[in-house]
Amino acid sequence: MKFLKTFLLLQVIVGCILFHLSCSWDSVVLNRVKSSLKFKEDTAKELLDKDRITVILIGVGTPIPSDNIQNSTAVFVNGQFLVFDSGDGVAMAMEKQHLPVTEINGIFITYFHSDHFADLGEVIDRSWLLGRRNHLTVYGPKGTSELVNGFLKSYKLEYGYRTKHHGENVMPTQWKGAEANEFTLKPDGSSKIVYEKDGVVVRSFNVNHEPVEPAVGYRIEFKGKSIVISGDTADSENLGKHSLGADLLISEAMNKSLVAKIEKAYEFLGIERFRKIMKDIQLYHIDISELGRLAEKAKVKTLVVTHMIPVAKGFFQIKSFYKDPVRQEFHGDLIIGEDGKKIVLPLE
Ligand SMILES: [Zn+2]
Repeated sequence: MKFLKTFLLLQVIVGCILFHLSCSWDSVVLNRVKSSLKFKEDTAKELLDKDRITVILIGVGTPIPSDNIQNSTAVFVNGQFLVFDSGDGVAMAMEKQHLPVTEINGIFITYFHSDHFADLGEVIDRSWLLGRRNHLTVYGPKGTSELVNGFLKSYKLEYGYRTKHHGENVMPTQWKGAEANEFTLKPDGSSKIVYEKDGVVVRSFNVNHEPVEPAVGYRIEFKGKSIVISGDTADSENLGKHSLGADLLISEAMNKSLVAKIEKAYEFLGIERFRKIMKDIQLYHIDISELGRLAEKAKVKTLVVTHMIPVAKGFFQIKSFYKDPVRQEFHGDLIIGEDGKKIVLPLE
């Protein structure tokens, strides 16, 4: 009898604890969801604020393995969210950086090496899954239609499953995928307006990434402010021309003397394949000193270095590989890019 009483009492105690725990977890989860939604809402409000331009370096990586997300830059201007390139890891990085992915107005591709487009399918898909309610356009040079249509084809089953499972109201088929807007530039080095909305203008121009072509850069303008994105390029007169007076020049860079040392090491070790690759890549990227000279000559206000080869880790490597050489040539403001870096340009 005593045993039965103790057993019943224990059951009551355990029941109470479980009930209490379940109530506590309900409120913990509710508070977590509420604070996460509030944070996202506040971040979106700040980024889409029309009184300033905000640039976020989503990823500064390259095809060389590193901790970085591959190349992508977000520009928030006059309430518009424009994305330039979308290399590997970009879709998830955007969400981790709390960017309002459902509000993307346009994606611009600079060229067709995979470190600039590998995650395009995911960016298109995730923005829709999370609630995008507008047609998404992918702008880029010749090859963009083939790229976008290839992704749409490979995501056909994914789109179908999502709508079938969650229903048309939650996953409306009309907003899935994206459409390509392919443009052609004249070979004379001139720029072309490829996007224009409520005073925001995006021009594209050719850069020199031979033998790969087309390869383009972009210049974004609004209320007298200008941001130039180089894409991948060798030292290019046209990049200098279109960077003239830019508030921000966001450019790739290579430390060629270091890459030459890597080439020499492979040669010494008799590894011809990688010696050849290291030699070839020096021909179509811009050296950090060349970039400094270009930015100085173009009177760029702030130079933002991204897509750095080789990767620099820590204060001393960043200083000696990139900061010191560029500082010898360029006297404006300098930002050495890192994933998630935010740069704000106030509008008068
Ligand atoms: Zn690249």
